[in-house]
Amino acid sequence: MNSLDQELSGRLETWRQQGLGRVLRRIDSPQGTSIEIGGRRLANFSSNDYLGLANHPSLKTAAAETIARYGAGSGAARLLSGSLAPHHQLEDSLAAFKGTPAALVFSSGYAAALGTIPALLGPDDVVVVDRLVHASLVDAARLSRARLRVFAHNDVADLGRILQWADRRPGRAVAGTANASAATATIRRPRVLVVTESVFSMDGDVAPLAEIAELKDRHGAWLMVDEAHATGLYGELRRGLVDASNLTGRVEIQLGTLGKALGASGGFLCGSRVLIDYLLNRARSFVFSTAPTPPAAAAAIAAIALIQGPEGLTRCDSLWKRVEQLQQQLGTRASPSPATRGGTLSAIVPIHIGPEAAAVAAAKELFDQGFFVPAIRYPTVARGQARLRVSLSAAHAPAEVERLGHALRGIL
Ligand SMILES: *Cc1c(COP(=O)(O)O)cnc(C)c1O
Repeated sequence: MNSLDQELSGRLETWRQQGLGRVLRRIDSPQGTSIEIGGRRLANFSSNDYLGLANHPSLKTAAAETIARYGAGSGAARLLSGSLAPHHQLEDSLAAFKGTPAALVFSSGYAAALGTIPALLGPDDVVVVDRLVHASLVDAARLSRARLRVFAHNDVADLGRILQWADRRPGRAVAGTANASAATATIRRPRVLVVTESVFSMDGDVAPLAEIAELKDRHGAWLMVDEAHATGLYGELRRGLVDASNLTGRVEIQLGTLGKALGASGGFLCGSRVLIDYLLNRARSFVFSTAPTPPAAAAAIAAIALIQGPEGLTRCDSLWKRVEQLQQQLGTRASPSPATRGGTLSAIVPIHIGPEAAAVAAAKELFDQGFFVPAIRYPTVARGQARLRVSLSAAHAPAEVERLGHALRGIL
C-alpha cells in the first residue's frame, strides 16, 4: 500500500466503526417502485422519483427522439457552443411552469446552489440558513465567504434575531462610483440573503414561507427557497410551495432539481430576467461546466408538460393518498406545528431511530423482508439522529404501502 492508501484505509476504518460506512448498491433494473438488487426483487421506498416519471414512456420517448436529433452529448459549456435548442426550450418551459420571468439550467441542483450563492455574495455580506438546509446550500454559503449564520429549524423568531443583528452590522466604505468624486466614498450595507427549503429533504416538514418572506421584506433581505422536494407536487399547477403560498413575486431566487419529481436530471434556478442574465455571466458552476445532455433536457420538458396536465393532477392525488395511508398505518401525522402550515403533507416520511447502528439494523431487517428503505445517518443528518427515510411515489400500489406499514410496525 502506498502512503495515501494507508492513510485512507485508517480513516475509513474509523468511519466504519462509527456505523457510518456506505457502499453502493447496484440496481439491475430501471428506477421504479420495484427494483432488482443482486437477483432479488425489492419494493423500493428510497427514491425521489415522487411521481413515478423516471421510467415513464413520455420521458423516454422525448429523450430518445432528442438523441436522434441532437445527439447524446452537449459538447461544451453553454457559453462556448453547448447552448443547444433543447436547453432553451427547457428554460422557457421551466419559467412558464414556475411562473417566473426566467430560468437557468445547471448540470445538477447541487451545481445550481454552488454557482448561485457565491455569485451573489462576498466576504462583506451575510448569509442566513435554516439549520437543516441541504449540504449543497451549506457548501455554497461557505464558498461565498459571506458571514454564515444559522437559524434554528423553521424558527422565525430566531431568524428575526439574526436579521436584527445583521441590521446592526457596520457598512463598509467603498470607493466613489463613476458619478461621485473619488473623495466621497459611499457606505455599502452588507447584503443579507436568507436561505431555506420549502420541504426539508430528510424530515419532510415544511418551512413557514409566508412568515419568512414577511420578515426578509421587513429587513430588506433577499430570499432563496430550495424547492427540490416541492416542485411538481404542490399548488393548482403543481409549481411548488412558493406558488402554492402565493409568494412567487416575493421570493427572489427559487432553486430546483430536474432529478426528483421531474424524473430527469439536472438543476435549475428561477427568478427575474436580470438575475438569470447575471448568473449566466457569473455563476462559475454554469460558466465552467459542460451543458446538461440533450436527452436529459428533453425528458425534463416532457415531465413538465405531463405534470401540468391531467396526468400530473392524478399522479399527485395518488401520491398524497399513499402518504396518508402510510401515516394512518403508522399512527403518525404530518407535523402539526403551526409553523409548518398546519401539517402540509410531503412525500418524505422519516422514522426516527437515533443511534446509527440501530438505524442500519432496521434497514437491513426491512431489506431481508423485501423492502428497500435507506438508513439516513451522519453527515446527512446530525449524529445520533439516524432514521429510516421512507419516500413514497404516486406509482406505489396501495397493497405495497400496506405491506411496508405492516413490516415497519413489526420492526419498531
Ligand atoms: C437533491 C437536492 C439538491 C440537489 O439536487 P441534485 O439535482 O440532486 O444535485 C438540492 N437541494 C435539496 C434540498 C435536495 O434534496
